[in-house]
Amino acid sequence: MRYLDAHCHLDFNPNVELEIKEALDQGIMGGILGGTSIKDWPTHQQFCQKHEGFQWTLGVHPVYLTDQGISDSFENLAWSMIKSDFPPIGIGELGLDRKFRPRASDEIQIQAFRRQLAFARDCNLPVVLHLVAHHGLALEILKKDGLPQAKGMIHAFASAPELAEQYLRLGLKLSFGGVATWANAIKVKKSIEICPLKDLLVETDSPDQAPEGIDQAHGLKMLIYIASKIAEIKKMQTQDILEQSTENLRGLFKI
Ligand SMILES: [Zn+2]
Repeated sequence: MRYLDAHCHLDFNPNVELEIKEALDQGIMGGILGGTSIKDWPTHQQFCQKHEGFQWTLGVHPVYLTDQGISDSFENLAWSMIKSDFPPIGIGELGLDRKFRPRASDEIQIQAFRRQLAFARDCNLPVVLHLVAHHGLALEILKKDGLPQAKGMIHAFASAPELAEQYLRLGLKLSFGGVATWANAIKVKKSIEICPLKDLLVETDSPDQAPEGIDQAHGLKMLIYIASKIAEIKKMQTQDILEQSTENLRGLFKI
């Protein structure tokens, strides 16, 4: 069995062919690209068409939002992509972010989040959530508005087990990345401990969120290292964590 990366942004890397080759040598056969802004959708679609094993999701990332909010034509453009010959497998990234240089106000972020959530329910595709430092509000919106039946995942989950439990109760899967390797990431480690295997995913978020001690763009191949740290916490074999995560991804996104 070959492994999939639950979340990455390979299109940023000028040496992406090398990155993919190095990953393949380690048994990583592909991954899911996070959506950033509407203008990037065709690029991500073409990238995945060209690279076997990669799939894309369509969304407007909260950090890429401006104060103009999402374009009026979001839904029309998204439907045309869904009906195209290489459709997205999910909706995202969508969510809230108060930490990583957000350009849009909280109000605009909330509008964009709810609008994309509504769209995900309409087309019933799983969501890829980006939620940083806004958890109370995010949970309130998710509970009030509702998830699509297809549910979804929270990428780069890096919060406390009390929050993990609430998201798990909504039927979301939790994806853990580079932060899981940090010695001082106690809360994240506790969240990994309590996350049932059927709801656990592993991601690199490459080139972002490098594991501890890795200071350059870390690459898809680091999926193995991140999984090894999760395996230590779960007292399991790295390979079993990677197989489980890949199986969970295939189930969630029907790939
Ligand atoms: Zn991302």
